[in-house]
Amino acid sequence: MTNYIFRNYSEQVCIGKIICLARTYQKHAQEMKTTVPEDPLLFLKPESSVIFNNESIIIPKMSSCLHHEVELGIAIGKDGKNITQDKSMSHVLGYLVALDITARDIQSVAKKNGWPWSIAKGFDTFSPISDVVLKDVVSNPLDLDLELKVNGVVKQQSNTKYMIFSIERIIEFISTVMTLRRGDLILTGTPEGVGEIVEGDVIEAGLGDICCLKVDVKKEK
Ligand code: MG
Repeated sequence: MTNYIFRNYSEQVCIGKIICLARTYQKHAQEMKTTVPEDPLLFLKPESSVIFNNESIIIPKMSSCLHHEVELGIAIGKDGKNITQDKSMSHVLGYLVALDITARDIQSVAKKNGWPWSIAKGFDTFSPISDVVLKDVVSNPLDLDLELKVNGVVKQQSNTKYMIFSIERIIEFISTVMTLRRGDLILTGTPEGVGEIVEGDVIEAGLGDICCLKVDVKKEK
């Protein structure tokens, strides 16, 4: 099944690769007992991990500890390689709120052994995303409240102004490594307050008053 960015528009944009940043908020780096990097630290999630509003995160049999991470997402609207910072915003289609669901137990083993995070981050349903809001509607994407509630209780509450990289720098950096294509998504990393989610939980995430997302949690049968 093909996933499209816009489920509410007539134009259909296929979701491409999902590029994620790690440790982009000082306080989250602290709670993970690590430091923020000098250059963006990247990993990829597969497109097959995407789910949408009112769908379910599935706890896979391989993991017994999933964590929520709420993040500002950037949808790319125009292909580009080696994009300079002054041209970067012309490649942005819009913004969304996303969850970077992580099998923390699997990730901890991977970190200890110096292994990649692809398993910990890549299960089906591990990338819930809201609809995309076009960039023209958003006056300043780096001054938006980012909030996540589990069963109505606030667990993560921050603002994108605390992110250590600008959107221009993120796009410039990624595009020096890999070509960005229309439909790619960038998940810009989570603020502090990450925590466990379990079967039956209902998760609500919001990005300012522009995007919201609601999903629940089920177990793999
Ligand atoms: Mg993350």
